[in-house]
Amino acid sequence: MKDLPVSARKLVLPRPANLIGNAFLPAASGAEMEVVSPIDGLPFTTIADSGAEDVEAAVAAARDAFDHGDWGRLSATERGRLLLRLSAMIIAHAEDLAQLESADNGKPIAQARIDMQVTGRYFEYYGAAADKVHGEVIPFQRGYNVEVRREPYGVTGHIIPWNYPAQMVGRSVAPALAMGNAAVLKPAEDACLTALRIGEMAVETGFPPGALNIVTGRGEVAGKALSEHRGIDFMSFTGSPEVGVMIQTAAARNFIGCTLELGGKSPQVIFEDADLDAAIPVVVKAVIQNAGQTCSAGSRALVQRSIHERVVRELKARFETIAASASGEDAVLGPLISERQKRRVEGYIDNADAPLIARGTISPDAPEGGYYVAPALFGPCDPDAGIAQEEVFGPVLAVIPFEDEDEAVKIANGTDYGLVAAVWTRDGARQQRMSNALRCGQVFINGYGAGGGVELPFGGIRKSGHGREKGFAALLEFSHIKTVVNHYG
Ligand code: NAD
Repeated sequence: MKDLPVSARKLVLPRPANLIGNAFLPAASGAEMEVVSPIDGLPFTTIADSGAEDVEAAVAAARDAFDHGDWGRLSATERGRLLLRLSAMIIAHAEDLAQLESADNGKPIAQARIDMQVTGRYFEYYGAAADKVHGEVIPFQRGYNVEVRREPYGVTGHIIPWNYPAQMVGRSVAPALAMGNAAVLKPAEDACLTALRIGEMAVETGFPPGALNIVTGRGEVAGKALSEHRGIDFMSFTGSPEVGVMIQTAAARNFIGCTLELGGKSPQVIFEDADLDAAIPVVVKAVIQNAGQTCSAGSRALVQRSIHERVVRELKARFETIAASASGEDAVLGPLISERQKRRVEGYIDNADAPLIARGTISPDAPEGGYYVAPALFGPCDPDAGIAQEEVFGPVLAVIPFEDEDEAVKIANGTDYGLVAAVWTRDGARQQRMSNALRCGQVFINGYGAGGGVELPFGGIRKSGHGREKGFAALLEFSHIKTVVNHYG
């Protein structure tokens, strides 16, 4: 299929309904929202526009599943098998899911295909890990047995964004379910169709009623109701820092914990001894992938002054050849998610407080009405410039020169964020010093996997949020410790 308009694609659409207690239900009010494809800006289906009463029903179904239902009675091994079955079904339907994701989110089909493999992998990883979370026994006083158990919280809330919709379902929900929680998911209103299909698959694979519930709708209505609900025992949020503050405030009011993953301004630090042939394509991909709408996009290139001219020349040549296009087979850069995000990113580009080095193009074949933005390269940027400090969430790279290692560390750590960083150098001791000095949750050396790696703990500090997703660390986040002291004699 080559660049077909969304209306002409054969899509396996999910039911435009919430998933509550394994039933597919419209919003109690009957309200629906149009789903618009970023590829052409045209509506192609609808979803439920849910309210507080729908969230109430979903939380009640989850509570019942955990406290009294079949879900709460399953052993860890049985839970794991269900997740593995769901993983296999996602992989079996990967092409349909990828087509749906590309139409709904606008991402190039090649990226959507990768996303489905990663989504399946999340359910596989956590399915296989479900019965491997062990407790401990603490040697205590004579006559005591002390156990430290890992227990699920109960009902977990999940609010996820639109940038990697299916991956986010796996990343947020799979570890929670593996630990035995019952989940209520509020996917993003801008892209939630694959979440609903995965929900349908969960029912087909035999998940008991109430284990996984999905409520679609607006953030300020359904999302707010979920984040404030007193029946939620732990909250997981990925999205903007502004909403992250609201989620954390609501969690504090309900005395529950939360994890926040709020994005970043991740630096790629390129030293003069770096293998530039290896580095430059990766640096470009790290900010072009998913049209820059990646929390861990490498959106700052810190370049040592001695190689600055060469690096800028090579980045410029690459940026100038990138064309935003409809998300067909050959697409590298698709549209942004919405008119709102397009305006926001264009606002950053038009008002940038640094010189423009290069601009890509928009392909003449890109459908009118789609949300396309030509990529932009800025530099040399002052480290404190807005374009070098704020998360643009678009295909925009800020180049910042530095003199030496000390200055590189200062600039790299000099934003409010701290999610991911990359260091490009052949010097082993410098690799170690830099990985020690960088204040963030993940450091890549001579490579960059924007967020990549289901097995790799991922998350940030400061404005990037707190708590860890992915890897075994996520299982610990979705569980709490219960210490049992048995005085037996
Ligand atoms: P957002 O934070 O508004 O949306 C993320 C999720 O939160 C969605 O599911 C949304 O429905 C929900 N939400 C919105 N308002 C809510 C509220 N009051 N209470 C509860 N839930 C609510 O993000 P956005 O406006 O779609 O994007 C804006 C910016 O956020 C982007 O430009 C980018 O900088 C950042 N962002 C970061 C990530 C990330 O992966 N860290 C993802 C998306 C957006």
